[in-house]
Amino acid sequence: MKEDVKKLAEMIAEEKGIDIDEVVEKIENKEKEYNGLISKEGAAHIVAKEAGIELIDEDSDSLDIENIVSGMNKATVVGKIERIFEPREFETDNGKGKVANIILRDETGSVRFSLWNEEVEKFIEEERVGVGDTIRIENGYVTEDNRDRPELRLGRSGELKEVDEEIDIEVGDDSYTGGFKRKNISKLAPGQSAEIRGTVVNIFSKSPFFKKCPECGERVEGEECEEHEEFEVNMVISAVVDDGTDSIRAVFFGEQAEDLVDVERNEAWEMTNEGKDMEEFSEKCNEILGKEVRVKGRVKMNDFFGRPEILVNSSERADAREEAKEILESL
Ligand SMILES: [Zn+2]
Repeated sequence: MKEDVKKLAEMIAEEKGIDIDEVVEKIENKEKEYNGLISKEGAAHIVAKEAGIELIDEDSDSLDIENIVSGMNKATVVGKIERIFEPREFETDNGKGKVANIILRDETGSVRFSLWNEEVEKFIEEERVGVGDTIRIENGYVTEDNRDRPELRLGRSGELKEVDEEIDIEVGDDSYTGGFKRKNISKLAPGQSAEIRGTVVNIFSKSPFFKKCPECGERVEGEECEEHEEFEVNMVISAVVDDGTDSIRAVFFGEQAEDLVDVERNEAWEMTNEGKDMEEFSEKCNEILGKEVRVKGRVKMNDFFGRPEILVNSSERADAREEAKEILESL
């Protein structure tokens, strides 16, 4: 279950003093009732409404950022601007557009707030808001980004206001994005959790597979686990990411590898005839050469190479055009 739905279900269960499983069942029934027309989050909101619960307290001045979930309308949020990403232009069949992302933070967490087209011009390009400013978004709405995280937008009825009240949190050059400090690769040191953004300059996809036993979890060296006569395929891919200050090897395990090359592990296993014919898969991997990626992970020393490497927790393509197009198409 998605984090947002879980949070909503917990809120409902707590308010009504009933079991969380009961709430989840209600949500699932509601979703079925609407026959695919609404999301699980939407279903949760309806369940809450029917139970007489206001998930957004209309009287309260603003939401804590940690409580923001996708599907919310009329969200009022006060946060400090921690980071402003450079506005990016994109082109679709409907013409040209512009998008700029802001990371807003309060004492409880951070959220992506995206500005579109005229909003970008008005607030970012004319420098009406800047890093360190505290802003208030009234009547915004919350959608989700391409990794299922809440993303706040102004929409038609939303308003952005600068406020005098100070939020007492540090923001600055070292901006945090979800707890991972954005760093230049040249500044990375073992033991840190960090976010980097750079270009994929090399990718190692020759032997991405390893086998584990689903039963005992042991790594399988031969055909299958000797004891349980089973195996499952997993995947690991490394890539070299360069941000202009330096480069680093980034290691993508399992889902991260799948995300990176956009191929599911079993699909890859089949595509390569069980690892024997790597041509098509390598080509697929090479498609991300030269692409920009954002990577969050933990830096550790690779003793074999004597260099730090980053073990990836999450990554996303940083290609502005693709990203924006995806968002526009989903509207
Ligand atoms: Zn086993």
